[in-house]
Amino acid sequence: MLDALDTAQADLHGGRAPWGRGLRPPRHGSLKQSIKTEVLVVGGGITGSLAAQHLAARGVDVVIVDREQPGLGSTAASTAMLQWEIDCTLGELTNFYGFDRAATLYQRSAGAVHGLSSLVGALSIDCSFRPRSTLYLSAGEAGPSALRDEHLLRQRAGLPGTLLDHAELLSGFGIDRAAAILSPGSAEADPVLLSWGLLHDAEARGARLFDAMVTEYHDAPGSVTVETDGPFVIEARHVILATGYLMPDFVRCGIHQTASSWALATVPQAPGSLWRDGALIWEASQAYNYARTTADGRIIIGGEDDGTIDPAVRDGKMPQKTAALVESLVRLWPAANPVVDFSWSGAFGETEDGLPLIGAVPGMPRILAAYGYGGNGITFSFMASRMLAELCAGRRESWFDAFAIDRPPPAG
Ligand SMILES: Cc1cc2nc3c(=O)[nH]c(=O)nc-3n(C[C@H](O)[C@H](O)[C@H](O)COP(=O)(O)OP(=O)(O)OC[C@H]3O[C@@H](n4cnc5c(N)ncnc54)[C@H](O)[C@@H]3O)c2cc1C
Repeated sequence: MLDALDTAQADLHGGRAPWGRGLRPPRHGSLKQSIKTEVLVVGGGITGSLAAQHLAARGVDVVIVDREQPGLGSTAASTAMLQWEIDCTLGELTNFYGFDRAATLYQRSAGAVHGLSSLVGALSIDCSFRPRSTLYLSAGEAGPSALRDEHLLRQRAGLPGTLLDHAELLSGFGIDRAAAILSPGSAEADPVLLSWGLLHDAEARGARLFDAMVTEYHDAPGSVTVETDGPFVIEARHVILATGYLMPDFVRCGIHQTASSWALATVPQAPGSLWRDGALIWEASQAYNYARTTADGRIIIGGEDDGTIDPAVRDGKMPQKTAALVESLVRLWPAANPVVDFSWSGAFGETEDGLPLIGAVPGMPRILAAYGYGGNGITFSFMASRMLAELCAGRRESWFDAFAIDRPPPAG
């Protein structure tokens, strides 16, 4: 578990990813006095930006605080594959929670990527956002029959996708694996530019952004007052915790753990040498590798996850993890020019059921958590922004329970 107060952005990731180049984060001044607001969002990464933008667009008075540069926490280490497929397959989620609930969650996830695409389009955010299909490749024990079962279940849930056998995958994509599920409806982006674009829009709608660290939370019946690292306090009707992998101690949750992940971006590839349609690629295995392309023609490949928590140990493993990722890249796409331009590492959060932690902190109904863990953390951040805005307005839906922070470990 990373210490919420002592862990800086520099501890959340090492090395350098290719995001946000040439641009600077939104400016945020310091607090000059104690203030009141309807909703305080703590954290200005992609999660806080989505929440703040959505609330501001609904006419809610919002304050965002970040103790460092907005967007340069875990968001800057993301590979930003914006998928609706959840880290747990529909089959696994069905084993945990039954088909109906699992199907609903997958449908909600698909709706979230669609909603994010519409939002980026409506706001014209310049963040290399591109709609993408995904290729879910058979790997290890998950061979063609496992993929067929998953595909049938997805069909039953009304989710789009086509099962490709070895010959179809090889002739269609030049990828030599036993099978794959090809699914439309995902996307990719530069996560830092996306986050900054959302923050700019939120500010244009009246949201206020400050440079401050929240150190204490005092939950009272009608409001929450937070102490900051300066002399001033902020009082809000609701507080949204969007602090990424740094959870305050009072958020007790038994089903998540912190790990580490590594990624690299190659030099731009020769024109015409990338796989078809720049599909987002990921593998049907527990510790999977994943790959995407970028608007300037690079290949990004990530994975090699392990349970490392210590930032220095994580960053020390960069040479060996980068070498392993290069090997995986060459196996996946032999035509790649594997010269590495960027390599980086990052803290990564996971839950046992692949689902995020979104909703009121138990016993603190005005403090709302937005922790979108897993390989589709950003998709979950979008869901969090919509769900928490509803909760702030006093409305809740029964499916929100699936993301409860105090849910028991999944059975099955
Ligand atoms: C290597 C890697 C690859 C990934 N790939 C993908 C992917 O392909 N697709 C995907 O969807 N997700 C991916 N993720 C996950 C995704 O990046 C995260 O879910 C997401 O970036 C989390 O964003 P956030 O805004 O919640 O956190 P952050 O970006 O870390 O933002 C939290 C902010 O809170 C601030 N803060 C913390 N504590 C305080 C405090 N007390 N007071 C004030 N401010 C505070 C921090 O300074 C920080 O700016 C990946 C993650 C990693 C590390």
